[in-house]
Amino acid sequence: MKQRPSFPARLDSTLAKSSPATSKPMPVAVPVPQGLGMDSSAVRSRMVQNLGQQGVRDPLVLAAMGAIERHRFVDSALVNQAYEDTSLPIGLGQTISKPGVVSRMVELLRNGATGKLGRVLEIGTGCGYQAAVLSMLADEVYSIERLRGLHDKARDNLRHMRLPHVHLLFGDGMQGYAKGAPYAAIISAAGGEALPTAWIDQLAVGGRLVAPVVNPSAQGATQALMVVDKTPQGIKQTVLEPVHFVPLKSGIA
Ligand code: SAH
Repeated sequence: MKQRPSFPARLDSTLAKSSPATSKPMPVAVPVPQGLGMDSSAVRSRMVQNLGQQGVRDPLVLAAMGAIERHRFVDSALVNQAYEDTSLPIGLGQTISKPGVVSRMVELLRNGATGKLGRVLEIGTGCGYQAAVLSMLADEVYSIERLRGLHDKARDNLRHMRLPHVHLLFGDGMQGYAKGAPYAAIISAAGGEALPTAWIDQLAVGGRLVAPVVNPSAQGATQALMVVDKTPQGIKQTVLEPVHFVPLKSGIA
């Protein structure tokens, strides 16, 4: 198995800035001598503090973002940037979403739930980071990836966590995954022209779907975050802020 990089001794200066005077003191990342490695929890706490300042409130989401080691999901050359609020390449032309977007979408998905969600479907496993975050917030996570190389990479990345309730599937997520349906929540990390009907069909009544969708009203092919609630009275769609995701593609490769 591929050796995972240890957390780097050298830290980006933006992560080591001291807290503003108005906020509670937070652990500040301190560079340690090369070769010793370090505990990455301090930089993650800092990231979580930033997510809170961006408006993420759900305590379970913030706890998950603070617990999952994002640096284990990116290539060793990018480990220094793992806790910056930036998307990063994960190979095969795909990207891991920035922490701000992951936490925003997962917070929307949870819709203020106090406990864990039931079964959740994720379209676009990528490197497996968001699946790991979801694993802390749901009873069962089904995550589909259409690129074999990334499906395998996610399997490698998640192995050390031993998560029997996370099911990684190789296939076309536009079909959803009927065997796990109905889902309390569905989240897509790739944006298409329209929402596949399979997703709506496989969503439980009372469930919520969060996905980027191409916004036809805007000039050019911009995307917006879409929230779909399946209520006993029918489907309710809400279009939120512009986002930028990789395209949703059909078939496998
Ligand atoms: N959640 C991921 C983000 C990966 S980027 C992470 O944490 O890393 C989005 C992913 O969606 C890409 O890997 C892309 O290959 C995948 N994707 C695009 N269309 C898909 C489809 N129809 N079915 C499954 N995965 C798809």
